[in-house]
Amino acid sequence: MAQRVPVGDASGGSKRTSRVRVAVRLRPYMDKQDEKGEGPCVRGLGSQKLEIINWRNATETLQYQFDVFHDEKTTQQEVFLSSVKPVLPHILKGQNASVFAYGPTGAGKTHTMLGSQEQPGVIPRAVREVFHLVRTEEKEQDDWEYSVGMSYLEIYNEKVLDLLSPGSQDLPIREDKDRNIIIPGLTHVPLSSFSDFDTHFIPASLNRTTASTKLNQRSSRSHAILLIKVVRSQRSPPRRQQTGKLYLVDLAGSEDNRRTGNQGIRLKESGAINLSLFTLSKVVDSLNTGVGGRVPYRDSKLTRLLQDSLGGSAHSVMITNIAPEYKYYFDTFTALNFAAKSRQIVNQPFVRETVVAPVTVAGKRAREEKEAGGSGE
Ligand code: ADP
Ligand code: MG
Repeated sequence: MAQRVPVGDASGGSKRTSRVRVAVRLRPYMDKQDEKGEGPCVRGLGSQKLEIINWRNATETLQYQFDVFHDEKTTQQEVFLSSVKPVLPHILKGQNASVFAYGPTGAGKTHTMLGSQEQPGVIPRAVREVFHLVRTEEKEQDDWEYSVGMSYLEIYNEKVLDLLSPGSQDLPIREDKDRNIIIPGLTHVPLSSFSDFDTHFIPASLNRTTASTKLNQRSSRSHAILLIKVVRSQRSPPRRQQTGKLYLVDLAGSEDNRRTGNQGIRLKESGAINLSLFTLSKVVDSLNTGVGGRVPYRDSKLTRLLQDSLGGSAHSVMITNIAPEYKYYFDTFTALNFAAKSRQIVNQPFVRETVVAPVTVAGKRAREEKEAGGSGE
């Protein structure tokens, strides 16, 4: 694949533009998401591929390939080990990284990033690992000392809001003379341990996620962004200092809000979310295929914020979450077309005892779209 050098973009002085690694995670099939008892319409094929029924022609399946495919049995630990842990050592060396969860509402983004007490996700595991790496470094050599801190923010309706300072106004995004992206006024909390992190993060994240996951809730329309900053300083002259940033992002739902009966203000909000998500997809596309010249970081708040931590010399991973039930079909299809390295049509029916007849699939979908479009909330 062609590697490109972005023109006039923050690549941290590096000439290399790195790809965004794309992993896809399929969540387990859930009975309650399948009122009609149709069974799943997606299934895995090994560690890089999956197939989904072709709605245009049910005698065919569409097979997609990614950097990594995590099937529905994949544990939180496995996702962390394969997709996130490898990027963390770079943060201690003054490099930047970003991990995103992408996908429709209900497909498992928050489960992947945050998880639960019993099944902690990427965020708590990554923070634990950062502290572990810092302790190990400090034990093995004493030239550098490290400090860790966090910020937590949200992009909602193209506004940047500080989640550690409730009631704050839209914050500006700036670039310093070294092309680092900064947010003046954003709360930064120094952390000395994982439990320190827990103390500050859990209340702020609960604040945001206690609302139900029903479509159109604020949490499905905003991007939640956790920033972990690691600063290392040389103990003796020349006392160099390096800062590494890790962004852990639970993105807004990728569903097409035009199909959920949004009206008025809601429609405006969905449109704004789509600007950041839509621009993110253009940026990722541009980094991964090299088509289209300029990388459009400046076209949305999210991509502007991530400019120094996505592409360039940064290490980026996108975990695309998908759900197997038919009611997610179109959002899954759209997400896969974005995430895939390649797609192939295979002339063989999606074999399952529960599969519906070819005509019914397309017909049913059209019916659902009509219902969704006309029903409002
Ligand atoms: P999203 O944040 O994308 O809207 P959630 O993370 O809230 O989706 O997931 C929707 C539901 O599915 C939640 O009840 C969540 O616990 C469950 N879920 C998601 N992924 C998994 C998984 N891999 N294993 C078990 N349950 C999951
Ligand atoms: Mg969520």
